Amino acid sequence: MKVTLLGTGADHCIPAFRCLCPVCQDARKRGITRQNSCAVIERDDGNLILIDMPPQIMLMFGNYHIPDEKIYDVLITHRHADHTLGLRYLFHGKHEKGFSVKEPVNLHIPKQAFESISKKIHSDKKDLQLHPTETDFYKIHFIETYKSFTIRDTKVTPIETGHLLAKIARDANLDKPLKSSEQSGEATLGFIFENADGKTFAYLLDASMKLPQRTVEILEKKKIDSLILECTYSHESWFTGHFDIDGVVEFKEKFKPDWMSVSHVSHKNLKTSDLADKLAKNGIKPSFDGMSFTV
Ligand SMILES: [Zn+2]
Ligand SMILES: [Zn+2]
Repeated sequence: MKVTLLGTGADHCIPAFRCLCPVCQDARKRGITRQNSCAVIERDDGNLILIDMPPQIMLMFGNYHIPDEKIYDVLITHRHADHTLGLRYLFHGKHEKGFSVKEPVNLHIPKQAFESISKKIHSDKKDLQLHPTETDFYKIHFIETYKSFTIRDTKVTPIETGHLLAKIARDANLDKPLKSSEQSGEATLGFIFENADGKTFAYLLDASMKLPQRTVEILEKKKIDSLILECTYSHESWFTGHFDIDGVVEFKEKFKPDWMSVSHVSHKNLKTSDLADKLAKNGIKPSFDGMSFTV
């Protein structure tokens, strides 16, 4: 399979709107941008799997020549707006609005995330009902943490990353993250994709440096060929629900993926070339919007 990172930035993008911090100034000078994170996987049969739909999604399809009519499956990691605002393009597909599609797209999403997002992205504010779970244009499949499913012959395992759990713990002044999404009703999912040829790709964005134990066990057991891990900050604490650079390097040493790069990089990180140097010293590939690699 071929993976393309359509965006590699965190919530505020790089450069952030009107921000004069050194990272944003440097990015403007060099013409670098990191849009909200999003990735597309091209299976060997040519069908595409999209992970997350940020607000810039339509522009991304054009910029990176993604044939969106070949997207049959969309996976959602969690409810936050930088990962989901683009879902309005999917929910609003209707015959009377001139849409004509061959078959509905499968939307794989945690139930709580669907309920939270569905109400938020109605264009008609008078109607705050949930969107239907099945129309001629999409079909929703509620996914559960640690319950594998298949997309044709690709096995997908959603694993809890602890991102929202860490934030809930921080807000409650706890000194460690909650243990499971059942406690909070708030899942954040990373995905492990296993191809029929045995190749494995893991995509872990919006993840806490204190990963849940079950997730650690799964990552220890499975051999990960290629990995995209988030690297939101240069240096931060676990309770932000994100990784910093030291956390990313420790992850690599612990789980030993064959090939690794990062995404979800915020402007509270090093300047782009400094981050690339630091990662390269640790055997981690630098990333950029539009980067592709084969698993
Ligand atoms: Zn995010
Ligand atoms: Zn900035």
